[in-house]
Amino acid sequence: MRKFLSKILILMTIPMLFVGCGKSTENDGDKLKVAVSISPLKEFTEIIGGDKVDIYTVVKENMEPHDFDFSPSDKKALSDRKLFIYNGLGMEGWLDQVKEGNKDTKLIDASKNGNIIVDNGVEDPHIWLSLKEATNECNNIKDALIEADPENREYYEGNYNKYKQELDLLFNEYSQKLASIKGKTFVTSHEAFAYLCRDYGLQQKAIKGIFDEEAETTFKDMESLANYCKSENIKIIFSEGSESQKDSDTLAKAINGKVVPIHTLETKVEGKSYIEAMKDNYEKIYAELK
Ligand SMILES: [Zn+2]
Repeated sequence: MRKFLSKILILMTIPMLFVGCGKSTENDGDKLKVAVSISPLKEFTEIIGGDKVDIYTVVKENMEPHDFDFSPSDKKALSDRKLFIYNGLGMEGWLDQVKEGNKDTKLIDASKNGNIIVDNGVEDPHIWLSLKEATNECNNIKDALIEADPENREYYEGNYNKYKQELDLLFNEYSQKLASIKGKTFVTSHEAFAYLCRDYGLQQKAIKGIFDEEAETTFKDMESLANYCKSENIKIIFSEGSESQKDSDTLAKAINGKVVPIHTLETKVEGKSYIEAMKDNYEKIYAELK
């Protein structure tokens, strides 16, 4: 009996040894080398690419993407990447610098086939703040990974389908919940939420434009926005903090209202996944506008 058991043990160990071998050769050198521009794309690519991809992120977690300066060291870091996945729509003002000199890197526009909002002739790049547009970005990322690494097609498709279900679920959950505040106006410091507003039938009014986060807000702008808020009985200013915090505080004071923090997700929200941060946004919007 003892002999029999040890035989079984040996037989069981052999295939495990093979699995072990396979795993040990799967180091970083075998992974698909990918670069992404901004934080939401990093997370989407991580989820879909899983342990088959190695990701380099150009705009680091503590940097502000709208005024990011592409440097020679970024260019060097991209030189051995097979794919560069970017947001597009003007979010990467430095895209031409990637194109020059990185001939072997395939450029992937994550906004491709998206339903893009154009405001005064300018395309709004904040697509990841719509779950529907985020799903489209994930679909483009999945297709690009499959094209570059067809052997792992099923793996990428499986991860994408699972994540798409999560995004759909969240969208549907808040379609119902936010329906009760449809048509309400959402006042914000940085004009980043047009896609979120479109998803749920809200109106966006912003202190700062889509790209001019750095621009000084004039007294006249502030006064007209304050008058608007008063006439519409708006008491809440949603602000992503940082640069525009002062303007949000000024406006809130002028209308006797308050500032509520919200995530633009342009940089990584500490301790929160994309889905958790979006959920957090929806909950705040619902709580304040209902
Ligand atoms: Zn922005």
